[in-house]
Amino acid sequence: MEDERSATLPSQKDDIVDPNVWLTTGLQMPGFAVSGVNAASFKESVWIEGFRSWVVHSITEGMSFKGWLLLTDGSGKLLSLCVIDGHPAFYAPSECWMLDRAGEALALASSTAVSGKPLRSSGLATMSVIDENGRTLCVIGTVSQSDTKGDMLYQLAGFFIPCLLLEAEKVHYQQQAGKQRREKAEFLKKEAIFLSIQKLFSLIDVQMILSEVIYQVHDFFPDAKVDLLLSQDGPGGELPIKSMNIFDANSELCMRAFMEGKPATVPSASASLTEIAAPLAGKQGVYGVFHLRMGEFHFSQSDLRHISMITSAAGIAFENGKLYEQSNLLINELRLINELTKRLNQSLKLNEIFQYAVTELLQIFGADYCCILLSDPEGEKLLVQVCNIPDIDHEVFEVDEDFPGIVYRTKEPVIVSDYDKEQLVKSKLMEFTGCRSLIASPIFVNGDVVGVILITHRVPNYFTYENYKLLYVLSAPIGLAISNASLHAEVRRMVITDNLTGLYTRRYLDDQVNLHQKVDLCGSLIVVDIDDFKRVNDTLGHLAGDQVIIQVSEISRTCIRETDIAARWGGEELAVYLPHVGAEQANIVAERIRLRVFEETNPNVTVSCGVSDWHASDEKVSVEHLFYRSDMALYMAKRAGKNRIKLG
Ligand code: GH3
Ligand code: MG
Ligand code: MG
Repeated sequence: MEDERSATLPSQKDDIVDPNVWLTTGLQMPGFAVSGVNAASFKESVWIEGFRSWVVHSITEGMSFKGWLLLTDGSGKLLSLCVIDGHPAFYAPSECWMLDRAGEALALASSTAVSGKPLRSSGLATMSVIDENGRTLCVIGTVSQSDTKGDMLYQLAGFFIPCLLLEAEKVHYQQQAGKQRREKAEFLKKEAIFLSIQKLFSLIDVQMILSEVIYQVHDFFPDAKVDLLLSQDGPGGELPIKSMNIFDANSELCMRAFMEGKPATVPSASASLTEIAAPLAGKQGVYGVFHLRMGEFHFSQSDLRHISMITSAAGIAFENGKLYEQSNLLINELRLINELTKRLNQSLKLNEIFQYAVTELLQIFGADYCCILLSDPEGEKLLVQVCNIPDIDHEVFEVDEDFPGIVYRTKEPVIVSDYDKEQLVKSKLMEFTGCRSLIASPIFVNGDVVGVILITHRVPNYFTYENYKLLYVLSAPIGLAISNASLHAEVRRMVITDNLTGLYTRRYLDDQVNLHQKVDLCGSLIVVDIDDFKRVNDTLGHLAGDQVIIQVSEISRTCIRETDIAARWGGEELAVYLPHVGAEQANIVAERIRLRVFEETNPNVTVSCGVSDWHASDEKVSVEHLFYRSDMALYMAKRAGKNRIKLG
């Protein structure tokens, strides 16, 4: 192309045209009007290419004349100039050796076209192309030394307009095609984004949503480095997820996007973007920021729009996922509370409740150890009721020591992430087990703290904040179950305990003897009756009489073993059952009671006792029979002078 140009460009030295000649034979042709076309808006390339096409198709070999194309923007400004010398050739205005003359020709042709006056210069044949308003759009001219050249130009120029329009159409079509291509590309991209968003909204698992959106952003912007900074959740395993750090100076852009809840870019003089921070925002808040950086390439403004679309959708999907996660947690919590309460209510025995609670809590939290402590009635000590560490079971803690003490005193739950690092208090429990994580909760009954639940694990940072809250929630049904079982135990104790003496009731004794007679080989019953008790009442009053009954009861209770059962038989009569004991042994016990009553009571009284025993080999074994025989023996003792013992 370069060679062709050089070959056809006439040098000033070889100039064969005498410039003076051009001005002597002026020739003006009528202008061609271009109607219905806004030719003034034609691009420079339309003019040049139109002219190129005209030359190629119109100027045939041998038509040796020089010509120009003078393009104007409608105001007479020269845009381009072409020179023909036998062969078509094209030059930029600056390269053209006839520039000055061309300018002159343009001025003349333009003024002629507008004014309609004849062209006075000679040596030039010019042709103007005017629009429907009579405005000169361009001028075609050639060096002419004869009128014939002018005629030829006029004829050839007739063909210039179609060439020009064809070119304009071509350019227009190319523009349209380009626009369509861009629109199609944009449509495809939007469709891809729509599908991506649809995919995001189809997911409900938070981890899957995050992994999908990161994958999508990578897919759309493969040249970008993508990070996701989350404000609450921690690093995401294989995913490029980091925790947001407000102190990190590098994340200023991300903090801006996070605070404003809209995409942020680095301000740049040029429109090109190398860094974008887009928030992961839902309807209720902002959860994090996507940080995209380009090395070699730049983001466009439409990229920014696309990133916003994806991250906005991801924010809403993430929020939905989180809400779903939370509602699932709540449902699980409610289910757990429900099941635990149901199971706890199945038993009214404290031991069973403790055992069940520990087993369940260990399983729910996947913990290593669990202890339940209750305070003593004075509220001074905490006693381990149940624990899966045998050495700690039944241990006693002071209320001002260890974690049980803290929870009991503050009435607040506690979470310890790493005992080795944050030693709130010295804990024998943690040190003995080598545990580093702990959650603990108070147990409330009617608004008062009655105990503490401790759950531990050897691994640091084992328990989550949700675990800590859940334990606090679960401690309520456990407290309720403990309260119910304690109340039940109290009622039961009251039913089987005599009010005045604290001994068992006659009914309880009957039941127990009955049970023993079903499984034991033998047993004895002592009936104790205060001698001349009526006289005590009569002389010292009923209250003093009560005190005497209490003293005799206490002596009887302390003269027997724990497995023996002392009961108030009625009035001033007591009964003591001694399992696995024969009458001879029982006689010794009765004698011990008699002697101590005689020695220790004040006012001083004596007792008479009737003793009898039963053996599995007896012909008749029954509670009534045993009592009858003891009663008979007592009667004998009274008859024999009181303050003595008789065997029945
Ligand atoms: P004996 O030596 O034959 O046993 O004579 P006693 O006076 O002890 O016998 P009796 O059965 O005639 O009298 C028992 C008295 O005990 C009658 C009753 O008023 C009195 N008594 C029964 N229960 C109580 C009680 O709970 N408190 C008091 N203060 N007296 C009671
Ligand atoms: Mg009596
Ligand atoms: Mg009596």
